[in-house]
Amino acid sequence: MKSKLLIVTFIVVLVCSAFCVSLTNALCPTCNGRGEIPCPVCDGTGKVLLDEGGACERCSGYGTLTPTISIGSVTTQPSNGEIPVQIRLVNEETAAAFGKVTAEVQADSVTYSATSPRTNFPPQETIAVSVTITGISSADYDKLVETVIIGGGDPPSTAEKLRVTPQISLSEVEDIDCPYCDGTGLSSLQVDCSRCGGTGWIDCPTCSSTTTGQDEELDISGTTYGVAAVAVIAGVAIAAFVVLKKRTVKEEDLKKLTPTDFQNWVLKRLNGKPASTSDARMGIDGYTLDGQPVSIKQADNVDRNVIENFAAAMGRHKSKSGTLVAFSFNNDAIRGRIRAKLNYGIDIQMVTVGELIEGRTSTI
Ligand SMILES: [Zn+2]
Ligand SMILES: [Zn+2]
Ligand SMILES: [Zn+2]
Repeated sequence: MKSKLLIVTFIVVLVCSAFCVSLTNALCPTCNGRGEIPCPVCDGTGKVLLDEGGACERCSGYGTLTPTISIGSVTTQPSNGEIPVQIRLVNEETAAAFGKVTAEVQADSVTYSATSPRTNFPPQETIAVSVTITGISSADYDKLVETVIIGGGDPPSTAEKLRVTPQISLSEVEDIDCPYCDGTGLSSLQVDCSRCGGTGWIDCPTCSSTTTGQDEELDISGTTYGVAAVAVIAGVAIAAFVVLKKRTVKEEDLKKLTPTDFQNWVLKRLNGKPASTSDARMGIDGYTLDGQPVSIKQADNVDRNVIENFAAAMGRHKSKSGTLVAFSFNNDAIRGRIRAKLNYGIDIQMVTVGELIEGRTSTI
């Protein structure tokens, strides 16, 4: 009798958990039941850079500029025929700068100077650079330096003091990517993204038509998680079965593919074909149905370098539009895309693997 009851309980739990799992699986796979997804136009940031307007005023459109490094206080401690000079400098830019610092003193007919090695000036930080002016003739040293009494005693304590102020100059200051235009050379306005109204989220394309259904869906899953927890032992077996049956391809699985298998998967999704060996060497992994180059990166957070390399490959291939596929792109990549468009008239479509899984290939 007792064992029969046990079996019945087990079956009830089994059925219940199967029900729960199927409900959980019924959540929209695109947005995981959230009802919205990160905006593909602004990459979820809510902001886009308008590329209208002319050249960046700060770098005159070059995209690079000479960083401003200001010279602050200068101290000297001459002794034993040498003049050590300590210079405080501040890099006013938001990016690291490199350059050399020279201190010089003018004697009657000779200019004595010392230059620092190539020095890193961290962004918006004050640093002290020390150089020592040496090789001064003793006659000049005597003219440049005076001995002053700094305390009593017998004999009184003295110190050597420079009569002149050393001239400080910077040289070999290396250009940096213009921080005002992010190296694009364009004056760009950051405005709210029109697609998502600046929120960074858009309605989920898969389930947005049933907005009212969203909350219910979420509520149900909330309760069923509780039940599922109770039925966890039976649930595991069923879940594995149901998941195996219902599962479509997941990004995690695609990340584990070999590079070749991954490329083949992407090209199949795009109805494309693989590149010739010589094009592959140029950085083109395949072509879309209409013959546009495709670059495939089995990586997350693809950045501007990748975009620029692909744009260069497209340039060599004499293509004006192409498709770059990756798991995700960072904001810098979007700027790179705008830059490629403005500078070279090259259109790069950035497609995420998630979009390929959903069957959407044109977003931005
Ligand atoms: Zn959805
Ligand atoms: Zn947006
Ligand atoms: Zn600029």
